[in-house]
Amino acid sequence: MAKTDITAPTTDAPIPALKPPAGPEAFEHMQFRSGEFWREIPAYKDVDEKTFLDWLWQSKHSVKSPDELMAAIQDLVEPAFFEDVRQGFHRAPMQVRISPYMIASIDWKNPYNDPIRTQFLPLASRLLPDHPRLSLDSLHELEDSPTPGLTHRYVDKALFLPLNTCPVYCRFCTRSYAIGGDTDTVEKAQLATDPKLWEKAFEYIASRPELQDIVVSGGDMYQLPAKSLKKIGETLLAIPNVRRMRFATKGPAVMPMKILTDAAWTDALTSIVEQGRAIGKDVMLHTHFNSPNEISDITQRAMQVLFERGIMVRNQSVLIRGVNDDKHTMRKLIKQLGYMNVHPYYVYMHDMVKGVEDLRTTIQTAIDIEKFVRGATAGFNTPTFLCDAPGGGGKRDLHSYDHYDRENGIAVYSAPSVKPGQWFLYFDPIDQLAPAAQARWRDPKEQNEMVRAAIAAASKT
Ligand SMILES: *Cc1c(COP(=O)(O)O)cnc(C)c1O
Ligand code: SF4
Repeated sequence: MAKTDITAPTTDAPIPALKPPAGPEAFEHMQFRSGEFWREIPAYKDVDEKTFLDWLWQSKHSVKSPDELMAAIQDLVEPAFFEDVRQGFHRAPMQVRISPYMIASIDWKNPYNDPIRTQFLPLASRLLPDHPRLSLDSLHELEDSPTPGLTHRYVDKALFLPLNTCPVYCRFCTRSYAIGGDTDTVEKAQLATDPKLWEKAFEYIASRPELQDIVVSGGDMYQLPAKSLKKIGETLLAIPNVRRMRFATKGPAVMPMKILTDAAWTDALTSIVEQGRAIGKDVMLHTHFNSPNEISDITQRAMQVLFERGIMVRNQSVLIRGVNDDKHTMRKLIKQLGYMNVHPYYVYMHDMVKGVEDLRTTIQTAIDIEKFVRGATAGFNTPTFLCDAPGGGGKRDLHSYDHYDRENGIAVYSAPSVKPGQWFLYFDPIDQLAPAAQARWRDPKEQNEMVRAAIAAASKT
């Protein structure tokens, strides 16, 4: 066999083309929506850039009712659509709040299939019956909560929820048991919305030396005034056992202009990151983009501000039917995030929460998408696909099931470092199963038998 020639070429011969040139799909993630796209919305047609980028204007003009929606989009949609929205509001477990930026990012020519409409605006015509095994607070965050607004499930990390409002309300929110105000169908549980309760959470964190990692979420910390943000950040940094902190917010996806125009807030975040760095403690921002349609050149500018300030950003997406459950969409999202120096960290299976069965996908769908995106870009920009096991098992790599009955849509997980000796079940949405399996789910006796058989099969592995 001839030895490979590893010496440098001595001629000017062209380098052989081992691979054909990449097609246009290799570059689509570099295109960012730009210009004054919001002017297509009747209510925003006279809004200039300075106003549209003003975060206070965005907050004040957020849409919270069908009437406000109608006032914003006027004749862009058919009257039948508004009726569908009205009914949808009435039946939803979450309040509705949508920023003008998101309103302007919806394709109103096709609102039924738009990924942003799907996330924020419930339509009665699209709702499906809930899976018989789902519950509010499917993650049992209240059960693992030593004091209001603190969830201590894993040994060394805890989730601090200092407030219960968000810049938008997502239909799929896993905390619909607590976030936003009461709705026609759900009365909300209490989080630590009052600073006296924050003190209790800090006290608990300081009393548990094994707690090194604190996630500050909500609600959404975008809603914290700069002063409160600083207070929470500095108090946590001063607790000796706290080594790492993450601030989690959907803000950059739904209202990126805040980073550009709320100087006090952005400076408060920067200050905590810098104070942390000086004492060897890691402070990051975690955010939540789900669709490439959420991203514009405003997003890109905002992410660049954070990058210049040395604030690292990670992204956690939820896999949502009709939003990102398509492999090409997911690949574009991941590459676009990487392009803006946002690290795609996780993609979650949709939690089993009430009233959003139309948004869930099967575990198999997630497995197929994961297979497609892995290898499409840098490994550190390739997210791990997770199932946050209902019942409080915590996050599991979705491939690590002990058993997956694809026919009946039952995945069985165990979590030896979190809740040893227990099984946790995730159920695929029933409408995605074959007719015979759908029929079995209509019979409570069959339901118990299917679950028993799945657990028995998992026990054998
Ligand atoms: C997600 C979560 C965390 C953080 O988990 P990571 O895998 O480290 O991102 C911590 N506590 C709770 C209760 C959580 O749900
Ligand atoms: S921003 Fe987060 S906490 Fe708020 S509604 Fe959306 S998913 Fe829930």
